[in-house]
Amino acid sequence: MNINPQTKNKSKLAINGGKPVRPTLLPYGRQSISKEDLERVCKTLQSDWLTQGPEIERFEQAMAKFVGVKFAIAFNSGTSALHGAYYAAGLSPGDEVLLSPITFAATGNAALYLGASPVFCDVEPNSGNIDVSAAEKMISKKTKILVGIDYSGQPCDADELSLIAKKHGLVFIVDAAHSLGGTYKSKPAGSLADMSVLSFHPLKSITTGEGGMVLTNDSKYYDKLLTFRTHGIEKRYERYVNADEYQGAWYHEMQNLGFNYRMTDIQASLGRSQLERLTKFIDRRREIASAYKKSLATMNGIEFLIEKEHRESAYHLFPILLSKEPLALNRKLIFEAMRAENIGVQVHYLPIYRHPYYKDRLSMEVPNCPESDRFYSREISLPIFPDMKDSDIRDVVTALDKVSREFLQ
Ligand SMILES: *Cc1c(COP(=O)(O)O)cnc(C)c1O
Repeated sequence: MNINPQTKNKSKLAINGGKPVRPTLLPYGRQSISKEDLERVCKTLQSDWLTQGPEIERFEQAMAKFVGVKFAIAFNSGTSALHGAYYAAGLSPGDEVLLSPITFAATGNAALYLGASPVFCDVEPNSGNIDVSAAEKMISKKTKILVGIDYSGQPCDADELSLIAKKHGLVFIVDAAHSLGGTYKSKPAGSLADMSVLSFHPLKSITTGEGGMVLTNDSKYYDKLLTFRTHGIEKRYERYVNADEYQGAWYHEMQNLGFNYRMTDIQASLGRSQLERLTKFIDRRREIASAYKKSLATMNGIEFLIEKEHRESAYHLFPILLSKEPLALNRKLIFEAMRAENIGVQVHYLPIYRHPYYKDRLSMEVPNCPESDRFYSREISLPIFPDMKDSDIRDVVTALDKVSREFLQ
């Protein structure tokens, strides 16, 4: 697909009072809900189970099969799934979690929930993913978990990270919230770590409204995750620690401090229906990305991320990177001008350590992550979602051409 900009070079920017490229705002992401999705949800609403019932297990099994792992454990958000994964890894107060800062705050916050400390390692400038060689140098005696984030949908260097984790006795976890449907060496994203975490927020590869999942091949993690999401309560006789107390079927034991992190059956039925269209969703995302790449190749001052060898991005995001100095000033101008053209651009992400909670409340020293700061100052995410029309792609390209001519020549 070749999408060429539609405006004359000199048309006036909307931010300066000109006519916007389109009359209504194009969001940067949006869920795709079909008639089938609605029917499945309605059927569950009329069934005997609203919260955790048979649909949860069906969704978990379908996901485990799709990704090719033994166990999938559904949670009520990606954030609670991260909390569960860090907990199952045995993360305790005083431990450290090594991760890159170009991610949603939850990847770091989940360490704080358990009294542990997130430690930030710089990213590679051309992918936004963790820099493997920098990561190995930052491992300390306190490091317990090494986290890879599949930024924008492109799987991180899972083989190298997994090797480092093994060598240093760490648990390797991938935050795969962006990458469900992507691949690494022909293996599905979500199958490449000790545990992988998914999110089903409406902007992610598939949605359940709110929702998340942990994927693993390890039955030890599976057992911990199952009880963690439901108050730490064990209901299996063979696992009771005080089996002597057992007098009847009412008996159950709370063995650990868990949470109510359960997904509902209503959500699971939506997720299962969505999963059946996942491959189509990703095909369309990749088609849009490829159209963007063709059009952007000729625009001055704009770069895009590389797709590294042996992997296919799920393109949760389509980030562009501005290359003209001063980066932050140009980013602000272009961001605001694009919004005025009714193109819903976004920025991903403010490095976690720059959030006031981390900087001020935790008094965490701002780490030395020059590439992360530089990445943040020049990044803009263009709209990308399965139901985007070709005319929407053209609007984005037209607006970017119009705006970049003004600010980046
Ligand atoms: C969305 C997201 C999460 C959290 O998922 P929720 O389902 O919104 O709680 C975690 N990490 C990353 C990278 C995300 O994009």
